[in-house]
Amino acid sequence: MEAKKQIPCLEGWLTMPPQEPQLIGNRCQSCGHYFFPRVTTCRNPLCEKTKPLEKVLFSRKGKLIAYTVNYYPPPPPYHAPDPFVPFGVASIVLPEGIRVGGQIPKGVDLKSLKIDMEMETVREVLYEDDQGNEVLSWMFRPVTS
Ligand SMILES: [Zn+2]
Repeated sequence: MEAKKQIPCLEGWLTMPPQEPQLIGNRCQSCGHYFFPRVTTCRNPLCEKTKPLEKVLFSRKGKLIAYTVNYYPPPPPYHAPDPFVPFGVASIVLPEGIRVGGQIPKGVDLKSLKIDMEMETVREVLYEDDQGNEVLSWMFRPVTS
């Protein structure tokens, strides 16, 4: 069987295979602020913007700061499976100081989540599109080591 083509849900937000899953953002070389998703100019009002932004790959691991369970299908463009399966949503803070939200992959026991626990960025299939492509997104799951 031919392997399914894998495409990102948002182009340029997440590294794709064979690279390890990392969120792609940028950093202002003038003031040091990080941005995710990428911005075209620094958004820090106090920044003198004398130096350009640089592309960065964020740390894969961060700390869980909040989570919830989504019991209702989000509106389009979200592709909700039918029947809908509730899923967890996490907000984590990365060592670079930015907060990012993402789904929690299927199979993670949501009762096992604890605030401040270490989470890692993973790449999971969000849905399959009409052409049979696997659409990938970043998600966050507890670090198991
Ligand atoms: Zn700046």
